[in-house]
Formats: sequence, C-alpha cells, structure tokens
Amino acid sequence: MRDIPFARPILGEPEMQAVQSVLEGHIYVHGPRVKEFEASFAEWVGAKKCTAVSSCTAGLHLAYFNKGIGVGDEVIVPAMSHVATAHAVEFTGATCVFVDAEYETGNIDIDKIESAITEKTRAISIVHYLGMPVAMDRVIEIAKKYKLFVVEDCALAVGSLYKGVHAGLLGDIGCFSFYPVKHMTTAEGGVILSVHDDVIDAINKKKAFGVNRTHTERSIPGDYDVDLLGYNYRMNELQAVIGFHQVKRLDSFISIREENFNALKEGIEGIEGVSTFKSTHGDFKSSYYCFSLLLDEDLAPNRQTIMASLKEKGVGTSIYYPRSIPCFTYYQEKYGHNAEDFPIASKISSHSIALPVGPHLGLEDMEYIVESLKEVISKNK
Ligand SMILES: *Cc1c(COP(=O)(O)O)cnc(C)c1O
Repeated sequence: MRDIPFARPILGEPEMQAVQSVLEGHIYVHGPRVKEFEASFAEWVGAKKCTAVSSCTAGLHLAYFNKGIGVGDEVIVPAMSHVATAHAVEFTGATCVFVDAEYETGNIDIDKIESAITEKTRAISIVHYLGMPVAMDRVIEIAKKYKLFVVEDCALAVGSLYKGVHAGLLGDIGCFSFYPVKHMTTAEGGVILSVHDDVIDAINKKKAFGVNRTHTERSIPGDYDVDLLGYNYRMNELQAVIGFHQVKRLDSFISIREENFNALKEGIEGIEGVSTFKSTHGDFKSSYYCFSLLLDEDLAPNRQTIMASLKEKGVGTSIYYPRSIPCFTYYQEKYGHNAEDFPIASKISSHSIALPVGPHLGLEDMEYIVESLKEVISKNK
C-alpha cells in the first residue's frame, strides 16, 4: 500500500539552514529577510512590489481596512470559498452579500453579481477557486460600472494566470497564503499584491501599528509617531527565509502539480459516474491546487464511504469546502440563508472530492490513485 497524503510541504537543507541562521542572529522581526522575500516573490509573479503579512486572512482584512470599508457597507462574497474570504469582511463590520458559484469551475457566477449589488456595495471579493482564475475582465467591467473595489483571494492561486497576468494583479488588491498545504509555505504567512503602489505603502504602515517610521528609518530610538490605527499583521524573519527559498522551488512545484493533474485527468476521464471542473484553456491558466472530482447523483450519497475506502488504500483526500460559507453556523445564524439559496455551491460541497496533485507526489502515485478510484467507484455503484 502506498502512503499518499493530501498535502505535504517540501522543505530542504536551504530552508533548515536559513532558519537556523536567523535563530542564531538576534533579528527576528523588522530585519532584512522580509524585504528579500518580498522582492523575490514580487519578481516571481511579475509585480513591482508586495508586502508580506502574517496570513492571507490578515492580508484580506488589511485590504478592506485600508479601503475604509466598514459598518453599513456591503461586500459581494462568493458562497463557495474558505470562510476566511467572508471572515475578513465580517472583521470590518461590513455585511457579506453572498453570490452562488458556477458549476463549470466552482468560481463565482459572474452573471449573478450585478443583481446582488445595492447602493451600499463597496467591493467585490473574488476567489480563484482551487487555482482556476476567474474571468476578471468581466468582473472589472462590473466593478468600473458601479465604482467597486476588487479584492482577489489568491490563497490557492500561486501560478494562476489570466491573459498572461498573475492573479492578484488583475483586481485592485490580491492576498496569498503560505499555510503549509498551499503551493509554497512559510509555516503561516501571506503576501499582498496590488497594481496600486500606494496601497502597498499604506498597508506596510497599517500592518505594523500605524507607526510612521520603521525601525530602520529611525535615526534615534523612539523617533516615531503613530498617526493612524494599525494591526500587528507582520511576517517575521523566520517565515521570510523559508519563503525566500520556497520561491526558488515554485516553478518546479507548479510544473509537477500540472503534470500530476494532467495524469489524473487522463486516468479519470474514462471512469463512469465522475466528472471534473474545467481547467487550463485559452486565457485561463490554473495553478493546479488539487484535482476535484465531481460525483454524479447516484454516487454522491456514498461520498463518505468512497473517501474512507480511498483512505484505507492510503490515498488522502479533502473537501473544498464541506459547506458553502453561508451554510456554516455562524453565517447561517447571522444571515439566515439555507443550502437552497446557493444550489451550485451546495452541490459542489456535497458532490466533490479533492484529490492530491502536490509536488510531494509523482506519476506513479497518480496511477495508483486512478486504479484505487476505479476499484472504489465500481464497488459503490
Ligand atoms: C487557505 C485559504 C485562506 C486562508 O489563508 P491563511 O493564510 O491560512 O489565512 C483564505 N482563502 C482561501 C481560498 C484559502 O484556501
């Protein structure tokens, strides 16, 4: 039996040594490593600059906070995403207005955005679901028409391109996650990208208490003022050195994901009762976060059994996501929605199984997954 975990971060000697050397030094925060990491990540995605933060969730919160979005405002939020996408809006006191997904990709149904817009709407939140980029031209067109701010949740979109432009540079601001199961890791951490340089500068201040002069900019200790409210959402030097070395591995990480994804796709295409989302084509380049299997109506009720049988064979799986955001208790109690309000998101939550394609795995693992799946599916028919 093989051991195929859903995800496993890949760190090597360079990361280990770099962490050790930071630990042996005396600068854990406010040092040069975060700057180096920011420069390397920005270069990799093709941005002028970026700012590193403590998590993607912190980044999303800063995005709304910096824009001054708060009580009385509404933000369009995709129903099918990680709760962090909506939580970041909730932190500000603004109201989430959920929009259902489209079944082809799991991304927000762009056709349903306009009818969710009211006079109170200030922003549209976009998630590139499982790394498949959203048709941003259409989103931007709507945003321009109603003067809305566009926030991209790029937590699964490292390597996602739309018309050759990296996710996070398509809307007004984009936030990435370096949580262990994502495309690269800093243990916890994230980065904010923006096509607006002044936004990055403003957030640099707001992620560090609103202090007007960083440690390195101070001529004498204590030579600073605080002229606005800010959080402590910084990335530290340990996270940054890990990230710096992870960026060097990104090209290879993503090409292995793509290869694994395509192998699964080919193997699974012939299996009856399952289908999958649309992936890379034309203007859309996926980041291949995982391979999401969609069970047909007959098989869907057996999803738990199918996942358990796969686990017995050593194949790790996951669900993205077990409920649509508005159907998690917090949101249900606050907004009073039910599953029927978001039929597509609800269907994806109950019919999908996420299979691993990460760089910890190779083509033999993909073959094994396909064979295991064939066996398990035929037993559950
Ligand atoms: C993982 C994830 C997040 C949260 O990222 P953190 O870095 O853990 O805060 C947000 N949105 C999506 C879509 C995610 O997958």
